[in-house]
Amino acid sequence: MTGSFFPEEKISEIRDRASLLEVVSDYVALKKTGRNYKGLCPFHSEKTPSFMVNEEKQIFHCFGCGEGGDVFAFLMKTGHFSFPEAVEELAKRYGIGLPRQTPSPAQKKEMSKREVLFRINQLASEYYHDLLTRNQDGAEGRRYLSRRGVQEEIIKEHRLGYAPDRWDGLVHHLREKKVPPELAWELGLILPKKTEGWYDVFRKRIIFPIFDLHQRVVGFGGRLTGEGQPKYINSSESSIYHKGEVLYGLHAARRFAAERDGMIIVEGYFDLLTLHQYGLKQSVATLGTALTTKHIRTLKRYTKNLITVFDPDPAGIQATLRTLPLFLEEEVTGKAVLLPKGEDPDTYLKKGNLEDFEKGVAGAVPLIDFFFDGLIKAHDVKTIDGKVNIAKEGMAMIRRIPEKIRQDLYVRTLSERLGLKESALYEMIRPPRERTRPVEQPPEKSLREEFPKSEEMVVRLMIHHPELIPIISEEKIWNEFETPLLKSVCQELEDIFRKKGKQNLPETLEAFDGALKERLCEYAFEESGIAGEGPTGSGSQRPERMLQDCMEKIRRRKLKKDESELLRRIKEVEKQRDGRGLEALLREHQELTRRAKGLLKGNLQKG
Ligand SMILES: [Zn+2]
Repeated sequence: MTGSFFPEEKISEIRDRASLLEVVSDYVALKKTGRNYKGLCPFHSEKTPSFMVNEEKQIFHCFGCGEGGDVFAFLMKTGHFSFPEAVEELAKRYGIGLPRQTPSPAQKKEMSKREVLFRINQLASEYYHDLLTRNQDGAEGRRYLSRRGVQEEIIKEHRLGYAPDRWDGLVHHLREKKVPPELAWELGLILPKKTEGWYDVFRKRIIFPIFDLHQRVVGFGGRLTGEGQPKYINSSESSIYHKGEVLYGLHAARRFAAERDGMIIVEGYFDLLTLHQYGLKQSVATLGTALTTKHIRTLKRYTKNLITVFDPDPAGIQATLRTLPLFLEEEVTGKAVLLPKGEDPDTYLKKGNLEDFEKGVAGAVPLIDFFFDGLIKAHDVKTIDGKVNIAKEGMAMIRRIPEKIRQDLYVRTLSERLGLKESALYEMIRPPRERTRPVEQPPEKSLREEFPKSEEMVVRLMIHHPELIPIISEEKIWNEFETPLLKSVCQELEDIFRKKGKQNLPETLEAFDGALKERLCEYAFEESGIAGEGPTGSGSQRPERMLQDCMEKIRRRKLKKDESELLRRIKEVEKQRDGRGLEALLREHQELTRRAKGLLKGNLQKG
């Protein structure tokens, strides 16, 4: 296992010091609800949040798709980290020194290739940045950026760089650093020559490193500083760089999305840099690709107010409208700001129009309204044919909206604009009769196995009040449980508590799966904690007292069960007229009665 890579104590130190809440917040906007935090699950697509984080217990769980675990599991499940990478990332973030181990050949093999790829990108981005900011060879890059009005601070923040007009600058640099050229090739930084050797992909270009959420460079964009074609190039996709997923500037923008209540989406590198320079830090850019569903899913975890800025030319409008269905299906109101003809955010802001731009963002129009406008322009609304066409195309779009209430609102808008009855429009999207009958679904509740309340309570107490585990463990109350599943849970909780000297819920949960795990997560994420354990404490029962009550109930029920079992056996033996057997059983019964009395007495004394 990869776990052998780092000492066990280090791993647990990191787990203790890391804040799961902070780490998850890089990916998901979380809201506090009671003792937990809730948000949209980053691991499956959903409209209502079922993803929960409990900071105190350092666990997360999604009640929609079942993903869950601790902070390491979270990072690994994002798909951006192997286990050793997650350990290193968290150690770095929380200032925990990791012992420098020389990995054995076997461990070296295990060290993920992705990690090496990230290192190469890091080396390359430092090389380009140094050239731009410190080197004689970077003069042309500096001149170019100052001509375009890009400030120092932005150059630093986005670690811009410059690739000079040379064929082998990076090739040399990477060779000095002993980077295998094949890996740099894989990242799209260099290419093999026809004969022998390698050459740089980026030449005479401003370099834009593209970061992931953890400030790691996944890829590069480059813009020519002189004349020529193509103006822009990107490093090729690789195992760490997927164009349809990454958004340029998100690592810097995500913190501002909630505060500014929205996110601005533009297309170009310079548009993005200019927006950030003018203080509109809640901005991201797609990288020469159209906005994808994955982009929207990523962004809507930070805010549901997504605003695209686009060219007012017909091609620009068409391109933006193509994203409308994606927004609708993700239940996000995509909005748009239309700039004056011939402008893009970069040119527009640099002409001193910040205030107008901000107004535009604040009053951004839902994309679907642009869509309706476009339809009405394209067809003659005064003719019957025109109306029918608009209605057809409009309703084809509206039916893609999953939320009924939104559908209704848009149907109303469309009906008003066309002067048609709403019912006539609904008629167009009504499914065939036989399909309208709802399919009977058995209620999920009935599938749930009911556990005895008092046994359930012991487990919940062990989860929420680990300080009681030693008492429970001494009494071994689980030996009197009716439910073997809950017994195994208690034993697992106790086992880990004994070994580690404290609770480790993520590890406990790992031992279970399916419905049982789901149930344990429900206990762990209980909003109100243990019933009766009110925050004010007035009239509430103390957990120890609740535990005693539960144990008593469990014992009494067990006794009763044992007794009826014994009586059944006594009857059987009597039938067989086996005197010796009967005598033993009667003695057993006497013992049972004595124990029952003791239990009752103990109860009276306590009460
Ligand atoms: Zn999920």
